[in-house]
Amino acid sequence: MKPHDAQPDRRNFLQHSLLGTAGAGMALASTSHVTVAAETQGEESPDATITNRVDVLVVGGGTAGTIAAIQAGRAGAKTMLVERGSQLGGTMTTGGVAFPGLFDAWGKQVIAGIGWELVRESVELDGGQLPNFAKVPQRHWQNQVYTNQFLYAILAEEKCHEAGVELAYYEFPQAAKRVADGWQVDCVGFGTQRRILCKQIIDCTGGAEVVGMLGFDRLREEVRQPGSMLFKIGEEHQPGREQVHRLYVHGADSSNSRTVTQANLTGRRSVLAKVRAEKKRLMHLQPETGFRESYRIVGETMVTVNDYTSGRQFDDAISNAFYPVDLHTKTGVRPKPLKPGTVPTIPLGALIPKGSRDLIVAGRCLCSDQLANSGLRVQASCMGMGQAAGVAASLAAQTGTTPMEVPLAEIHKVLREHGAIIPGKA
Ligand SMILES: Cc1cc2nc3c(=O)[nH]c(=O)nc-3n(C[C@H](O)[C@H](O)[C@H](O)COP(=O)(O)OP(=O)(O)OC[C@H]3O[C@@H](n4cnc5c(N)ncnc54)[C@H](O)[C@@H]3O)c2cc1C
Repeated sequence: MKPHDAQPDRRNFLQHSLLGTAGAGMALASTSHVTVAAETQGEESPDATITNRVDVLVVGGGTAGTIAAIQAGRAGAKTMLVERGSQLGGTMTTGGVAFPGLFDAWGKQVIAGIGWELVRESVELDGGQLPNFAKVPQRHWQNQVYTNQFLYAILAEEKCHEAGVELAYYEFPQAAKRVADGWQVDCVGFGTQRRILCKQIIDCTGGAEVVGMLGFDRLREEVRQPGSMLFKIGEEHQPGREQVHRLYVHGADSSNSRTVTQANLTGRRSVLAKVRAEKKRLMHLQPETGFRESYRIVGETMVTVNDYTSGRQFDDAISNAFYPVDLHTKTGVRPKPLKPGTVPTIPLGALIPKGSRDLIVAGRCLCSDQLANSGLRVQASCMGMGQAAGVAASLAAQTGTTPMEVPLAEIHKVLREHGAIIPGKA
């Protein structure tokens, strides 16, 4: 095991802060509305870093993180959400995969709660159509929900606001270390140095970025599934009514800014080639490549493809999951449907980095083998995990324990109160 207390580069952090102070002074002299620090709930320290003291820090406001933060806020935890992009929703909104699934299996709803609330309200506000979950579709994707990505992102912000979640866009952790009563996480953004003191961290970065930064083990396949760039040519895109077109970006790697830049360049170049070849107008283009796969944690429990396809009911299950095994390769994808009646579950142990305390993940980086992950990574399951992680972290912060040690019955009770479906009781 690698060291858990990754030391922040304090000198570097202070240097940046001091430069930030000088810059802010100049900006204040020339403009009247540079009040970034004053508009947050944080405290400004003498070296002009903003300090936030919270119960729960969620890193990554994508499919899982948005739900985790809303849940933690609704459960009464002082919650902060740091997102390196410009909006909530992650792969759903910035990636453009606004086709969440699957909330149902074999004629009944198996995942509900805050994710479903957000998806349902987005569709209703958009005048769209919800699938009839009582009907078992011929093809699994027929019960996925056409969702307006733009509305979803705005509604998600409203729900965070109502739950008291403080949002910090364009920021990401630069260093993190253990302190007496939790964690100190130093984040950077342009014009911002933020120190967050928190009791619990929920890592929803898709690739377990914080888990890696803290020195816990992660897994990554040598050959990963391709990413995709989403776009529409020829006809106007109708958000919430259809899916946009997808082009594979082979070798896409979400590990760092250099590889993400490369994936975006490749994806956009392919779109340009298609526009030229087909001589059609480009009507829609997502700002970023969608990534199917990167790092996953080494957790207390690993979900194997056998667990997944046999519908194993884990003793510490916190959410159902449902989707075919869906591995994309260089030659495309052939989903392998689950046998009738099979509803896999997700154990709490798959969200806990092995040997950690006060740290939990949610989303596609859960501990699972590649094939199990190809089914578990879909949006309804990520939302189910996000909600469970939000409950576990907020209860742990409240009671001074760690997510793995919160009694499961307590987690289930709060999840039920917040509309989630508990495995085995669907
Ligand atoms: C092309 C494609 C098609 C898919 N098709 C479907 C489908 O049809 N239906 C379906 O349900 N699922 C589908 N999926 C799967 C699903 O969309 C994703 O697996 C799921 O959304 C992942 O959710 P997540 O919360 O784990 O990660 P994400 O939604 O990717 O969220 C991660 C968030 O963390 C942020 N972040 C990352 N690192 C940091 C950092 N260091 N600091 C701060 N913020 C950070 C990112 O900006 C992002 O907002 C598809 C995926 C892809 C890529």
